[in-house]
Amino acid sequence: MTAFRRPTNIRDILCKTCPLTSSTSPFKWYTNGRVFSITLNLSCHSHNIIDLITCTKRSKQYIGKTKKNSFRTRFTTHRFDLNNDRGTCVAKHFNLDGHTHQHFNIITIDQLPGSDNISLLNKDNHSIHTFGTTGPHGMNIKELQ
Ligand SMILES: [Zn+2]
Ligand SMILES: [Zn+2]
Repeated sequence: MTAFRRPTNIRDILCKTCPLTSSTSPFKWYTNGRVFSITLNLSCHSHNIIDLITCTKRSKQYIGKTKKNSFRTRFTTHRFDLNNDRGTCVAKHFNLDGHTHQHFNIITIDQLPGSDNISLLNKDNHSIHTFGTTGPHGMNIKELQ
């Protein structure tokens, strides 16, 4: 778990995306019921983020990552995909009947130390293995390669 500190500025205080990156409240993996506590000090400008999307309606979860993109860009992309039903596994899920934006919850759960693609992918796969978000219990359709 890497903490990356950057000075807080007015822009970040007003930002609606930054708070999503600095959650200190515990979160639950629904596949095994375990509760994890994380402490990250990130902003929406942080890169190399592992994020966790939870559907609060069906308790399904999706792990993803950013590489060169900042978390803000990733968040915007997710919202665009959802609004336009772009066919990603996340967009498909949240366009199911009975879902609204209110069921979409995203938090950052880790930041990787570098931008090395291999370690990033390994880390992401590791998270998916550990937490089992593939298959019927999660939204990750297949493991990332
Ligand atoms: Zn921000
Ligand atoms: Zn759902």
